Amino acid sequence: MSRPRWDERLATAAAWRAGEDAQRRRRMVERVEGSRAVVDGRLLLNFCSNDYLGLAASTAGVAALQEAAAQHGLGSGGSALVCGHHALHARFEHEAAEWLGFDRALFLPSGYQANLMVLQGLLGPGDVCVQDKLNHACLIDGARLAGAELRRYPHADAAAALRQLQARPEAAAVLATDSVFSMDGDLAPLGALAAAARSEQALLLVDEAHGIGVLGSEGRGACAAAGLTAGAVAVLVVPLGKAFGGQGALVLGEAALIDHLLQSARPYLFSTTALPALAAALSANLQALRRADDRRDQLQRLVRHFREGAQRRGLPLLDSVSPIQPLLLGCNARALAVAAALEERGYWVTAIRPPSVPEGRARLRITLTARHRPAEIDGLLDALAASLEATEAVP
Ligand SMILES: *Cc1c(COP(=O)(O)O)cnc(C)c1O
Repeated sequence: MSRPRWDERLATAAAWRAGEDAQRRRRMVERVEGSRAVVDGRLLLNFCSNDYLGLAASTAGVAALQEAAAQHGLGSGGSALVCGHHALHARFEHEAAEWLGFDRALFLPSGYQANLMVLQGLLGPGDVCVQDKLNHACLIDGARLAGAELRRYPHADAAAALRQLQARPEAAAVLATDSVFSMDGDLAPLGALAAAARSEQALLLVDEAHGIGVLGSEGRGACAAAGLTAGAVAVLVVPLGKAFGGQGALVLGEAALIDHLLQSARPYLFSTTALPALAAALSANLQALRRADDRRDQLQRLVRHFREGAQRRGLPLLDSVSPIQPLLLGCNARALAVAAALEERGYWVTAIRPPSVPEGRARLRITLTARHRPAEIDGLLDALAASLEATEAVP
């Protein structure tokens, strides 16, 4: 028996990617100007950003970051339980908990880490984690890291979620879902999932990455919009890289649960706290986000404008009322060809392929933001129709 050779393994994987049109490429952004970006030297209209409200350019956020960095420097110097927890982190956690109506909040450097932390901190071998098939990868990975049994139900099927919980009545259980699904843009049946969790004494975990800032009064998210408060949702995870226009995540819950995570969750314990200046910027952006009703209204108008225009042009849209408007194309080659044709016309829309979406469900994931103008959306729709036609020969 001989040990597998690494060079052969890498070459096999690269050949497989090339054959499946699965090779990915990082595009280099040189500058962002409103809804446009200079990408690899070319100015393109950006229809793939999650900065739904344009708050990545928030002047208050940038000023708070500069001021706090000038005063407190960059790195926090340690993990939260050693020496990294700063007054600016504490202030942001407190403001966020009050805003969303939860006892306590924890601030982490990323949403991916936040979901790993929650699931690893709550679950272990012998426990069960019930999840929607289309949940974000980090919820899946969190259940794996915990060593819990992962049971996935068909997309948005709350009755199936209930049956999955009922199948393991003896096990401690978490029911986890995205609120707005990141690649499809549709909403989870939050009320029915909360009822299932309640009747089965499971904890409900909701990831609000694409709901926060966009839905609910003052942008409190999809749970708030559905009338679900802290009691019904045991853990709310709020990634801050989308409508918040920043970076990091909040984990919110009742005091005993948050304390348990803080004491024991390894992805929290063993990682350096984010820059204090980042927390200062996020505090400023929280205030901006709460007051952004005009941008939320504008965004909803643009979503309607896009969908009406797409229907008029016979474009095959999925059933989404969020700023995430996917155009399902099926195979990787077609998705890449349409994205390339769009780029030639000046529009930047990333082709999304497996493993981000299931096999055979490659798509263009178009995202709208409050910074787009209706005329820009009309331009995109015309370019889409032309690009679909121009690439018809591609399977
Ligand atoms: C983006 C995203 C995350 C990860 O958050 P990061 O801060 O980017 O690590 C988690 N969940 C969902 C649903 C997301 O879309």
